[in-house]
Order: sequence, then C-alpha cells, then structure tokens
Amino acid sequence: MDVAVKQATDVDIIIVGGGAIGATLALSLDRLNYRVILIELRKPVFSSSSPERVIALNAGSRMHFERLGLWDAIAAAGTGLIRHIVVAEPGNQGRVDMDAAQAVRPLDALGYVVEMGPLLEPVYHQLESSSVAMYLPASVQALHLEDDCIAVDLLQDDKKTRLRASLLVGADGTNSQIRRMADINTHGWDYNRFGIVASVRCERAHTETAYECFRSSGPLAFLPLSDGRYSIVWAVQPGEASQLLSMNDDEFLVALQRAAGDELLNSTGVIVETSSRASFPLELTFANRFADSRVVLAGNAAHTVHPVAGQGMNLGLRDVEVLVEELDSELGHRDPGQSILMQAYAERRRLDSLFVAGFTEAMVDGFGGSLPGLKWLRGRGMDTMESWPSLKDMLLLHAAGLSQADDGVVNQSVREARA
Ligand SMILES: Cc1cc2nc3c(=O)[nH]c(=O)nc-3n(C[C@H](O)[C@H](O)[C@H](O)COP(=O)(O)OP(=O)(O)OC[C@H]3O[C@@H](n4cnc5c(N)ncnc54)[C@H](O)[C@@H]3O)c2cc1C
Repeated sequence: MDVAVKQATDVDIIIVGGGAIGATLALSLDRLNYRVILIELRKPVFSSSSPERVIALNAGSRMHFERLGLWDAIAAAGTGLIRHIVVAEPGNQGRVDMDAAQAVRPLDALGYVVEMGPLLEPVYHQLESSSVAMYLPASVQALHLEDDCIAVDLLQDDKKTRLRASLLVGADGTNSQIRRMADINTHGWDYNRFGIVASVRCERAHTETAYECFRSSGPLAFLPLSDGRYSIVWAVQPGEASQLLSMNDDEFLVALQRAAGDELLNSTGVIVETSSRASFPLELTFANRFADSRVVLAGNAAHTVHPVAGQGMNLGLRDVEVLVEELDSELGHRDPGQSILMQAYAERRRLDSLFVAGFTEAMVDGFGGSLPGLKWLRGRGMDTMESWPSLKDMLLLHAAGLSQADDGVVNQSVREARA
C-alpha cells in the first residue's frame, strides 16, 4: 500500500519517527485538534515478513488501540492470545504459572501476539484520512531553537524545507537522531547478546500458552501465534548467534530443542518446522532526560529495554497515553511545547520506565548467573512466587499493563478495567 500524504510547514507538533509510537501519537494528537507533522525516514512496509516480527501487546496496549478505533482491524489480521504464561528454567523443578482467569480482575488474555506490519497498516490507513501532514521518506538535517518555537530542516527528494512547531517529539527509535541533536545523553549497555527470532511449528498446536525458558546463557521465549505456531525470541552470545543463523533448518531445530529442554517439549511436542531466522542486537538504552527545550522523547528513543519481558512497545504506548493526557489541556492548546507540561510528562514517565528496565534487568541478571546454589535459589524463588498469591497478582497486573509504578499513569479506561 502506498501512503497518501498531505504536507504543511508551520504546525503545533512535529513528530519524528513513524513506528508504532510516533504514528499512534500523531493520530491521538490529531483527535485533540492539534496541527501535526509526522516525519519518517523509510516508506512503511505492512506485509508479513519471514520470520514474522511479532510483538506481545498487553491488555493496557489493547485498550490504547481500542480507543483509537484500531483494534478490530489489528485483531482481524491475526492475533495469538496468551491466556497462560509459564516461566521455567530447564533442569530446575521450580516454575511460575500465570493464568488470565486468575488475575485480580479476570482478563480474557494476558497478552495479544500481533505482527508489526499488519499492526501498522490500519494506523497509517487512519493517518491518511486524518489532518496529519506526512513527510516520508524524509530525514532531518538540523534543529534550531527559536524564540517561541523549534525549527526543523527537512530533506526530502533533495529538497530542503524549514518546518516550525511549538513541540518536537523524538519517536525515532533506539538510535534516535533527535535525542543526539538535542544533546541528550544516554545510560545503558550492550548486553553482548543478540535476539534470534523465528517462527516454529511444534508437534502439538499451542494451548494459548507463552513460555519463558531461562537459560544461563540467556532467555528463550515462545509466543503463541494465531495459526497455532510459536514465534520465538532467543537471546544468545554473538558467536552462537552467527552459528545459529548459518545452520540449516534441521541443525537449527536440534539446537533449539536442546535449549528449550524436556519440560517444555513435554508440553509442546517436538519442534518440527522453522521459518528463516533474523537477529537483533540486545541493549539497554535510557535517556538521561525525557524532555528538553521544546523537545520530548517517546518510545525506544527514550528507553530501550531487553525484549525478555516483552515490554518495550507496551512501555512506549504508555508514553503516548501520558503525553496525550498532558496535552489535552487548555495550557497545552496555548503552547504545547511549554516546559511545565513537558517536565510533567518526563517526571510521570520516568518512574514507570525505570521500573520496567529494573524488573527486566532483574530477570536477565537473576537467571544469567551460574554460581553454585543460584539455580537452587531460583527454583525456590519461583516456588515462593507460586505460593504467594499477592506477589503473583502484582506480576500478573504488570504483565497485563494494568499496574504502573506511577499511579498517575493509569488512565481512565484502565481504572475502569480495574474497578
Ligand atoms: C526481538 C524483539 C522482540 C520484541 N518483542 C516485544 C514484545 O513482545 N512486546 C513489546 O512490547 N515490545 C517488544 N519489543 C520492543 C518493541 O519492538 C519496541 O519497543 C517498539 O517497536 C518501539 O517502537 P518505536 O516506535 O519507539 O521505535 P521503532 O519501532 O524503532 O520506530 C522508530 C521509527 O523511526 C524511524 N526513524 C529512525 N530514525 C529516523 C530519523 N532520523 N528520521 C525519521 N524517522 C526515523 C524508523 O524508520 C522507525 O519507523 C521487541 C523488540 C525486539 C528487538
């Protein structure tokens, strides 16, 4: 599908980056009658890829898409439901079982597994019929802070244009150019791991169960797809990643089965088929500031977390919710870039992002160690979680995106869902 675009030069808000975060933010702000420009480096691709690039959305993110009137179209493209999650370590007796029906407020699912291309297609479809002006493919050459606005030099088809807005949102992903141009440094580290992704078919169709297998060399997740297969994300060291990528399918299946362990295979049956493989570098990147003069960061541009807990996009969509809440005010409509609003956004988002980054780190670190006794301790830890309902409830609510470290983040519909 070709995206039909409208163009403008002076607006209220410019968003750089048209991934899920930038594009849904543009739609949400358009609904608040802001004049919005969306700049995207690449022409979006909506077709299914091989291997599928999938995302597990939680209940909070589903509500976000429902509010935008997009969920039915996303679900129609095929959604794998996660009704159960099993967290286990091969060779360890302890395990945690989570079930949607056991949540404090029963949920129809703990997660929804969707493909990235089909997720973006309805978003862009709505953007075409909105008032959002789009420049794509296009790139940003420079930023200039002026008296009461921010100016962006845009390059498209060898033509330079100066755009102006009260607020600039950097939603341009992990290596955010806007973050660099705004002189915002980051904290974080490269895990020296790659995530191998593939889609696999097991002997038995899944029972809407996701598995998180923690191995000392890195976690391996199985997410149920809508067609009965699983999408896997397997964190491995760089040497192992290049070996796995160069193996033929049969060799890869043998290696994957060894990593998954007998307990998982007892539930799923033998893994009989794999798609081609792809890999992603795994890193933690956390911006020192989420807001600066007339610039804010959202999504991976603000925080990139390890995909082990499947939280990156869920976290980014909560950024969108909070930014929209801050801008849905008289103050916002007077000047959306004013610092009091942007600092409020940054403050509200920092705690939730730090919580998710810390929680994810604890999972990676806690299962990464191979010191004597640590495996036993992890087994007991998982047993404790199983027998301590309030702790499990907290984990369930968090997995579902219905519990934020910052209570102010919980928006109206989430509050309704909890009531
Ligand atoms: C293997 C893997 C599995 C994952 N699984 C999950 C999961 O199950 N659940 C979950 O919630 N999250 C998951 N994540 C994380 C999730 O994919 C990201 O958090 C999410 O996609 C971030 O969205 P974004 O829009 O902020 O960034 P991106 O998706 O990176 O989008 C950024 C956009 O900006 C554009 N861009 C970049 N530079 C420029 C520029 N200079 N000018 C203009 N445009 C630019 C890019 O082309 C892109 O379209 C996973 C990540 C990985 C790697």
